[in-house]
Amino acid sequence: MADQVVIGLTGGIGSGKSTVARQFGSFGVHWVDADDVAREVVEPGTPALAAIAKHFGKDILTDGGALDRASLRQIVFEQPEQRAWLESLLHPIIREELTRQLHPLDYALPYVLLVSPLLLETDQHQLVERVLVVDVPVDVQIERTMARDTNSREQIERIIAAQMPRDQRLAQADAIIDNSQPSDRVLAEVCALHEAFIVDFG
Ligand code: ADP
Repeated sequence: MADQVVIGLTGGIGSGKSTVARQFGSFGVHWVDADDVAREVVEPGTPALAAIAKHFGKDILTDGGALDRASLRQIVFEQPEQRAWLESLLHPIIREELTRQLHPLDYALPYVLLVSPLLLETDQHQLVERVLVVDVPVDVQIERTMARDTNSREQIERIIAAQMPRDQRLAQADAIIDNSQPSDRVLAEVCALHEAFIVDFG
């Protein structure tokens, strides 16, 4: 397996992780989104979805045979022991799939990115050598998430309250991107970091 350095890219909801990841992508950097992988491993036909249906019963599936996420969320919200069961099933599967996707064949750059909102809250931080935090003030986070999604301000505030507080996240950063700036300034920061990573890890 290739030995690229894995850099974790994290930040709260609406901080700009996906936007910044795409900017790195414009320089040819490979990145994997942990949320996408978490969805992929429970798609119809996967062993994980079969195990979930066996454990919780067929009611956890939609008529089309997909995972009924709202029902599952409700169960694990009400029953911590079921959350623990689910996490012990999924976390190793997600980690294995992340590791696989993080190392594509025929990739020439010395580093890749793991984009994850829960990098620091889960064992995913063990997969990365550096932590890059995309940072905006909370009011900007709320404003941009409201403009992007259909959630109410209250829902977004609840999600933010359930995530790691901004100061704790920043305290664990090896590098920080200030995404409260206009996109072209952010792109310049991303470009400078990219060049520094190439020198450091090349
Ligand atoms: P995340 O992936 O962290 O949830 P996104 O990358 O989806 O966040 O960004 C949240 C929203 O803010 C998106 O609609 C995006 O287009 C917008 N956005 C991101 N960066 C900036 C910026 N520097 N200036 C203005 N809007 C931005």
